[in-house]
Amino acid sequence: MVEVFNDRPNLTMSEPFGCDRCDRKNPDQIERQPFPNELGERIVETICADCWEEWKQHQMLLINHYGLKLNEPNAREFLYENLRAFLFGEGDVQVEIDSGQEGSVKW
Ligand SMILES: [Zn+2]
Repeated sequence: MVEVFNDRPNLTMSEPFGCDRCDRKNPDQIERQPFPNELGERIVETICADCWEEWKQHQMLLINHYGLKLNEPNAREFLYENLRAFLFGEGDVQVEIDSGQEGSVKW
């Protein structure tokens, strides 16, 4: 039986980080807050780096699929809504993109 000493006792005092989306304990965390607002704060506190990567891929699909222009407020609003649905399961705006259709999207 090997004794394992915890050299960082403070860690046991605080809640371990767990991702709300994939339910993993102690996954990699996002290094930087993605948006300078409440939403960004929430993402950093509840979503792991892997899930965030997934969203970024999904976001690219959406941007390409819909030809979104990120300097347009409507496009950003659309992405925020999809982000909430994708990461937090909120709302009913999540758009399914059939990956079987990939390559057939008209530019
Ligand atoms: Zn996750």
